[in-house]
Amino acid sequence: MKRETVVVLDFGGQYNQLIARRVRECNVYCEIYSYKTDFEKIKALQPKGVIFTGGPNSCYEPGAPTYTKEIFELGVPILGICYGSQLMMHLLGGKVEKAPVREYGKIEVTTDHTSDLFADVSEKTICWMSHNDYISEMAPGFRTIAYTDNCPYAAMENTEKKLYATQFHPEVLHTQEGQKMLSNFVFRVCGCAGDWKMDSFVEQSIHHIREKVGDGKVLCALSGGVDSSVAAVLLSKAVGNQLTCVFVDHGLLRKNEGDEVEAVFGPDGPYDLNFIRVNAQERFYSKLAGVTEPEKKRKIIGEEFIRVFEEEAKKIGAVDFLVQGTIYPDVVESGVGGESTVIKSHHNVGGLPDYVDFKEIIEPLRDLFKDEVRKAGLELGIPDYLVFRQPFPGPGLGIRIIGDITPEKVQMVQDADAIWREEIAAAGWDKKVNQYFAALTNMQSVGVMGDERTYDYAIALRAVTTTDFMTAESAEVPWEIIGRTTSRIVNEVKHINRVLYDCTGKPPATIEFE
Ligand code: GLN
Repeated sequence: MKRETVVVLDFGGQYNQLIARRVRECNVYCEIYSYKTDFEKIKALQPKGVIFTGGPNSCYEPGAPTYTKEIFELGVPILGICYGSQLMMHLLGGKVEKAPVREYGKIEVTTDHTSDLFADVSEKTICWMSHNDYISEMAPGFRTIAYTDNCPYAAMENTEKKLYATQFHPEVLHTQEGQKMLSNFVFRVCGCAGDWKMDSFVEQSIHHIREKVGDGKVLCALSGGVDSSVAAVLLSKAVGNQLTCVFVDHGLLRKNEGDEVEAVFGPDGPYDLNFIRVNAQERFYSKLAGVTEPEKKRKIIGEEFIRVFEEEAKKIGAVDFLVQGTIYPDVVESGVGGESTVIKSHHNVGGLPDYVDFKEIIEPLRDLFKDEVRKAGLELGIPDYLVFRQPFPGPGLGIRIIGDITPEKVQMVQDADAIWREEIAAAGWDKKVNQYFAALTNMQSVGVMGDERTYDYAIALRAVTTTDFMTAESAEVPWEIIGRTTSRIVNEVKHINRVLYDCTGKPPATIEFE
């Protein structure tokens, strides 16, 4: 079945995933491809529309990212955003140069609502801008449909060729009517029907999985996190008893987590997943001993996971398929899909060893954003408290311990983290922040306890608010909660004599420490 697709062509901008998410909020499926993707490949996707993203370069400079002009002849509607708008003008014979006045932030834009792009959009509307260059001359065939005080061509269209361009960013929430503009593009200009819905996703996935698996045996890597839980339940609906779920306790889980996961997914829980728990603490600790480099830790953990699964699969015998809960941001951030640089290799994707002893890997959630995974989870009848769990990375506490990992350090971070989570929940702040945890810094410092000198570790507390986990802000948790947590940690957790609060947002930091 051919599903309606809008393609985002990535020129290295910061908000590219956001563009795809906004399009999907219109119930239209959307995928991100690097500008380096072959034109033939894009054409073969038969997109209903294409969106050119923003980007850091200046399109008139030699070597700047570009695309073949043939794409404008496809007859498929194209929307250029910021760099994308500049590039479109540049390629089609307009002029782009350094702007006399750069615009940054929220700017009032005057729009022409006779354009399809601005149907039902206010005449004066606040849009978010971030540019140094500007379009000083439009390409032939275009007309202006929006302007600002400093930007004569804030948006333009060529209706005959179905080409649209905006200097501002409709995808960011600061652009007040941005979602309306994107939905105008998707529905009015591209003529999409909007049939990308989670109930049909679940139904279709079950169908595809059955077809692929036949009567083969499937092994699912279950971590108890939202993604792998949704994947496991989806698989169990599709193939029932042919599925075995393996939960690896790698010794890098949160305090008591192994038992909690077993309680839900194990034989006494509500699901029938053929649950196997593997206690593999020792072998992970020994593989990780002395390793300090974050990417190396992630790779080791990723590889060891696979080895454990392979062994379990051998015990079961004749297992062809391995299921993982990889989701779309993992794919994009690992540099497989888009153009943005690799920030971290996710153990689901980039962290896979070169050789995997399964016939095939099934990643049923590979196309979904987190909020879509949650919707699919609810659709599958998974209870709210599981669906809305805070994210926990596959490499677990391994990347919340800066530097080398030892069982003692794991214990420290587990205990401190449990206290922080208890105090946050007791104060009702678990509803106000989206992710919160403790991480062990690699810093030791001098303290005094019971009149004696100590030389112990510093723990960092983190709490962030975010809607999409792509950007985040450090949460202003009341001092009272931080204070209570601090005194409990230094009193109850051995070898910690200092507690720090992480005030950094993402960017420039990431939510996790490694
Ligand atoms: N680099 C271009 C400029 O400065 C485009 C910026 C963007 O896409 N946000 O104008």
